[in-house]
Amino acid sequence: MSDCIFCKIAAGEIPAKLIYQDDEMLAFHDIKPAAPVHFLVIPRAHIASCAELTAGHAPLVGRMLVKASELAREQGLTEGFRTLINTGRNGGQEVYHLHIHVLGGPQPLGAPF
Ligand code: AMP
Ligand code: ZN
Repeated sequence: MSDCIFCKIAAGEIPAKLIYQDDEMLAFHDIKPAAPVHFLVIPRAHIASCAELTAGHAPLVGRMLVKASELAREQGLTEGFRTLINTGRNGGQEVYHLHIHVLGGPQPLGAPF
């Protein structure tokens, strides 16, 4: 997707504070952090949102979640963290390239709901 900001990050066309990449996913710090640690895990492939996922994506999404947890630990979130996926207009999604938010810090996060 030529006009997708996260595809451009995946292609190295715009900079990001990368914390991990392999052949199928990347993780980078959110540009507008909502917690002391706030990073995003995205697939390299353009998948617009969680609503576009099919059964074939399940292994990839599973590996993304495993990596999110590993990276959370590496980022110091040993006492816990929050994962979040916003989907679609009513889910508050702003960037239409699937991403898992990982948020945390030294203190407990406020209640999300
Ligand atoms: P969402 O509302 O779930 O679509 O969240 C999109 C997230 O992407 C927001 O937290 C933004 O701060 C973040 N974001 C947007 N552009 C960039 C960028 N160039 N680098 C890092 N994070 C970004
Ligand atoms: Zn994309």
